[in-house]
Amino acid sequence: RQAQYAALRTRPSVTKDGVHIELHLNAGLLVDLPHVSETGAAGIGLFRTELQFMIASAFPRISEQLKLYRAVLDAAGEKPVTFRTLDIGGDKVLPYMRTVEEENPALGWRAIRLGLDRPGLLRSQLRALLRAGAGRDLRIMFPMVAAVEEFDRARAIVERELTHLRKHGHGLPEKVYVGAMVEVPSLLFQLDEILSRADFLSVGSNDLVQFLYAADRSNVRVADRFDPLSPPALRAFRMVAEAGQRHGKPVTLCGELASRPLEAVALAALGYRALSVSPASIGPVKAMMLELDVSAARKVLLPLLEDKTGTADPRAALAAFAKAS
Ligand code: PEP
Ligand code: MG
Repeated sequence: RQAQYAALRTRPSVTKDGVHIELHLNAGLLVDLPHVSETGAAGIGLFRTELQFMIASAFPRISEQLKLYRAVLDAAGEKPVTFRTLDIGGDKVLPYMRTVEEENPALGWRAIRLGLDRPGLLRSQLRALLRAGAGRDLRIMFPMVAAVEEFDRARAIVERELTHLRKHGHGLPEKVYVGAMVEVPSLLFQLDEILSRADFLSVGSNDLVQFLYAADRSNVRVADRFDPLSPPALRAFRMVAEAGQRHGKPVTLCGELASRPLEAVALAALGYRALSVSPASIGPVKAMMLELDVSAARKVLLPLLEDKTGTADPRAALAAFAKAS
């Protein structure tokens, strides 16, 4: 199997009916970087910047952050990297940061909320990212955006930092793309608003599914209780893909969901053309994409999303479809 996947490394990820499905990988530390060339990934679709903070014993200085971000961009070469700004709080705690005890940390003071309330922290991270991106394209995305006004405020900080760097004679990125993660259900109902502002969206299915079903992703009793291949979740994923197409803006999905081949088939059928997966999943997902007829998969899946009886079983239908093809 491993050898078989390794042989796919340089094969373009194109389905049988000629649809290009870009496969990017999820990363977060220096040790992940060799995977980019080893797997033949199209890029890094999610770089979790909080990991550097989580393994440190104090806030990493701007210079340390800059060093990591530069190394990441160097390792990726011409391939795009999407940096997610600090996503701490919730299940990701920094031992050296004082916070107050929260009754519901997943719903609490975390990610972009913390970033906007502690702008010094977000500003220094953005400064490090913008400096690391000097002379190249830079992609930044904000986690846990629940309201478009949060995105506006975060983007304004990016603009301010750009102005600051320009004034001080630093080299700037060629182009800065700023995107939002779709992982809070409220954003599903502001898709036109967010898409008129953001350069791209990336669905964080781990959190989106957690919040959609109100089922704690880290609680084994409930984490796998609801199937992300059942109609409610699939309809949510479809809404984002279709809104992206309407606005002509790229939409990817970077949760663990896309790392499973059958789930990746469903996402391709819903209109996703870029997925970001764990490094070990690039091979298996690519093998599946090479065997896939997307338009046939759409014909199987889309009617099930119109089901009003509550008995549709997209997982079973897709599994039968995958087996037959
Ligand atoms: C997600 O929520 O799907 C996601 C990619 O972010 P994380 O798993 O880091 O919360
Ligand atoms: Mg998340």
